[in-house]
Amino acid sequence: MAEAGKLVPVPTEQTAQFWRGCARRELRLQQCGDCGRYQFPPQDFCRYCCGARLTWKAVSGRGKVLSWTIVHWSPNPAYAADAPYSLALIQLDEGPRMLTNIIGCPPGPIEIGMQVKVDFEQCGPDILLPKFKVT
Ligand SMILES: [Zn+2]
Repeated sequence: MAEAGKLVPVPTEQTAQFWRGCARRELRLQQCGDCGRYQFPPQDFCRYCCGARLTWKAVSGRGKVLSWTIVHWSPNPAYAADAPYSLALIQLDEGPRMLTNIIGCPPGPIEIGMQVKVDFEQCGPDILLPKFKVT
């Protein structure tokens, strides 16, 4: 459940499929029917070839840490009690990158290249946020 003051994503027409997948603990990405590449965040056209034949696919949820940092102090008081927490850029096995948190371990042992897998945290009544755990 969302804690007071924390930001809760509001699905739009463009992101609804992504959030429906998360609600089922399934990471979904758009895949282009023309060039076959995956993209995130969602948009109306393929960012690589401008193709408009995009479909939603459930993906592995696996990736690796490209970069990360530890947040020791949050400018938003709603997140103050969470500090220190990690903020990480994940390279998904399917290609796209996702800015997220690594959960399930203290922030110190994280290293670039570590293998991670998606997990989900309840953020609002109908919203689960994709976060990652070290595998
Ligand atoms: Zn394409």
